Amino acid sequence: MGRVALVSGGTRGIGEATSIALKSAGYSVAANYAGNEEKAAAFHERTGIPVFKWDVSNYEACVDGIARVEAMLGPVEILVNNAGITRDSMFHKMTPLQWKEVVDTNLTGLFNMTHPVWTGMRDRGFGRIVNISSINGQKGQMGQVNYSAAKAGDLGFTKALAQEGATRNITVNAICPGYIATEMVRAIPEKVLAEKIVPQIPVGRLGEPEEVARCVVFLVSDEAGFITGSTLTANGGQFFAG
Ligand code: NDP
Repeated sequence: MGRVALVSGGTRGIGEATSIALKSAGYSVAANYAGNEEKAAAFHERTGIPVFKWDVSNYEACVDGIARVEAMLGPVEILVNNAGITRDSMFHKMTPLQWKEVVDTNLTGLFNMTHPVWTGMRDRGFGRIVNISSINGQKGQMGQVNYSAAKAGDLGFTKALAQEGATRNITVNAICPGYIATEMVRAIPEKVLAEKIVPQIPVGRLGEPEEVARCVVFLVSDEAGFITGSTLTANGGQFFAG
């Protein structure tokens, strides 16, 4: 079997496409999920990829979950920090809970998932970490102060940790997808998608999860060792200043 790859939120949407693409590329894949048992079971049935339930916003749960993955497959050599949530609200109506849930999952989740695998990667002299950030972390998005802040934080995390991993052959990169056709985006009303969002995308459509997955496969390959601390944008040509 190929190298061991762990995908957080690997059973749905971009994570599902990533788990499948990594398996097709020969990796030994484990997919984490939060609690949607039906989706996880159907995913496992369809792909044969083992699924592991834990909450990435809980450090102890990550330590325990990663230990279960490693007991089954061996040391995690590739980590895709993909799990993410939205709790959208205009800032004046945003609750402390909406802020906390998004930051705990989308930003602190990166610490919680990466810290338990980091020492092993350093000791073995190999690692590939890909963090799924967002265009809204790059440009900011009204109604998503919590999400934009967390996703921008993911980019700082990526650039700083890349410097720490560089001499140990551990790369740390981020992908910033634009609007991708997953349940997260399908939750946006059809009219808003058609009239407000798609017209902002020069290619004239939403992205497909597989189009992000292919970026991950590229970044985690042994051959991508000189690419670290970078942000790969996959957004259909959406321009943003700054
Ligand atoms: P989905 O909502 O389709 O899937 C989310 C996945 O993450 C599910 O597998 C879910 O598990 C899991 N998850 C959520 N919270 C946790 C948690 N606390 N612990 C463990 N697993 C968790 O999301 P997308 O595929 O749309 O998004 C994937 C990533 O890409 C996210 O980080 C998102 O912010 C980012 N992104 C998405 C864009 C888009 O347009 N879709 C654009 C830019 C970035 P379960 O099924 O059990 O709930």
